[in-house]
Amino acid sequence: MILFKIAGEITAFLRKAKINGQTVGFVPTMGALHQGHLSLIEQSGKENNLTVCSIFVNPTQFNNPEDFTKYPITIEEDIDKLEKAGCDLLFLPDPEEIYPPGHKKFIYDLGFLETLLEGKYRPGHFQGVCQVVDCLLAIVVPDSLYLGQKDYQQCMVIARLVTLKNIPIRIINCPTLRERDGLAMSSRNLRLNKEQRMVAPVIYQVMLWVQQQIKKGPLADLKSAGRLTLMNAGFKVDYLEIADAGTLESIENWNGKDTPVVLIAAWLNDIRLIDNLVLQ
Ligand code: AMP
Repeated sequence: MILFKIAGEITAFLRKAKINGQTVGFVPTMGALHQGHLSLIEQSGKENNLTVCSIFVNPTQFNNPEDFTKYPITIEEDIDKLEKAGCDLLFLPDPEEIYPPGHKKFIYDLGFLETLLEGKYRPGHFQGVCQVVDCLLAIVVPDSLYLGQKDYQQCMVIARLVTLKNIPIRIINCPTLRERDGLAMSSRNLRLNKEQRMVAPVIYQVMLWVQQQIKKGPLADLKSAGRLTLMNAGFKVDYLEIADAGTLESIENWNGKDTPVVLIAAWLNDIRLIDNLVLQ
């Protein structure tokens, strides 16, 4: 695996590779890599000549400064995992490489996607995500972009960014990898203590329960019951929402046909976990 820290250098390398007919798959991450990230690397490896991973803990997408300073950093282990997963290039920029002094802050028109769920509870978060992804896509210029469905709303936001900016790229949304007990793999799981780690899978259990219980008709009681189970387990719940899987609009009264997705964001002490399940 080749490591690049300078944007211009990786851009030049990849430009040459593309002229020589190589296809490029890209997996942007914030590091503290786990098997969920590596599944995206592996998927890209199967579908492209070159796979690029970026590790950059993007300050502009953290609305909570403490969450940023406490974000786990495990670069040595990450490099080792990427090598083993067959990643070809790692882009590891310093913040000035992404946000040079005097850079212009673009405002993205994300419509109502920015006002609900993660957008509502993390103001400015998706603008930050768009800033960094826009910048990384301009540096890497991949053919395909691999994203995890674990961040369901983020997949939709990035699809919108790509449309807004007319970026010629294929987006591949990959399934969420889970621990054996159902907890979605996440870098933030590293911060859970033993007791919190035991409680954390309740999020997945509640989503499965919603999947079993959902019936045509009003959903308010189902949502409240799910929230209550989370609160009783010790979570502070930002939201438990059942929404249309295509638009993310809240479903109040399910017609029994449109595909719903249940989305949860909840805190265990100062650790915020998110997850979702498409109800097939
Ligand atoms: P992050 O490092 O959290 O920004 O995540 C980088 C990419 O990995 C994003 O596209 C995430 O959606 C994806 N990802 C994170 N966790 C998982 C998981 N458990 N399964 C699959 N993809 C994931």
